[in-house]
Amino acid sequence: MTKVLQVRGLVASYGSTRVLQGIDLDVEQGQVTALLGANGAGKTTTLRALCRFQVRTQGSVTFRGERIDNRSTEQIAALGVGHVPDGRGTFLGLTTEENLRLGGHARRDRAATERDLERMYEYFPRLKERRSQQAGTLSGGEQQMLAIARALMAKPALLLLDEPSFGLAPLIVKDIFAIMRRVRSEEKVSILLVEQNARIALELADTAYLLETGQVVKHGTSADMKNDDAVRRAYLGE
Ligand code: ATP
Repeated sequence: MTKVLQVRGLVASYGSTRVLQGIDLDVEQGQVTALLGANGAGKTTTLRALCRFQVRTQGSVTFRGERIDNRSTEQIAALGVGHVPDGRGTFLGLTTEENLRLGGHARRDRAATERDLERMYEYFPRLKERRSQQAGTLSGGEQQMLAIARALMAKPALLLLDEPSFGLAPLIVKDIFAIMRRVRSEEKVSILLVEQNARIALELADTAYLLETGQVVKHGTSADMKNDDAVRRAYLGE
């Protein structure tokens, strides 16, 4: 299998506080890899460190065979790493459709971009209904859908998805994960998914890493993780 992302010894600090202690992880081409862990374990910081956003880093990050740990956030995005941050990062004063078009603004293939816009509306019919509505007036679930769709409009090879379930009702979370299942089978995109909701993350993911206080303490296939006693007790509530 080809690795789309290979991370070795990733350290991240906010000022003088070191939060990631040297993380190794891989994302295989076309797969969904989950990053699990409790509050404060360093999941969000890992995604920020991969795109060198708001945090100081050391260690090596190789994306499609190329080192990106010395690149800027903008360069990393342009190389094909899409980041859907927690807090979502949509432009609340713009409409749904303006946000989606902004997601694809750097692309030169106009006709394909238009087709992708329509495909996003197929994945997320709620967004189509709300295409002219200001993003700030969308529900939490719709804003999450918009953030994901906007990132997909850039045609990333790797999508970093930060806690898509955060603050949403269980039914909406189920909807979003069902759509993500479709996206992963139809789009050429690999996904690194941060989730506190281990149960739903392991349903979607192929492999998973468990973080505790800035270190990887376990990793394996989703099936292995679901069967691991410690994971079951601490994260699946069994
Ligand atoms: P959560 O689900 O609560 O966001 P997490 O696993 O994503 O948890 P992080 O947000 O990465 O955890 O936080 C890891 C540690 O880094 C925490 O101790 C947190 O307080 C600290 N931290 C996060 N952001 C900052 C920041 N901007 N400045 C200083 N410390 C921070």
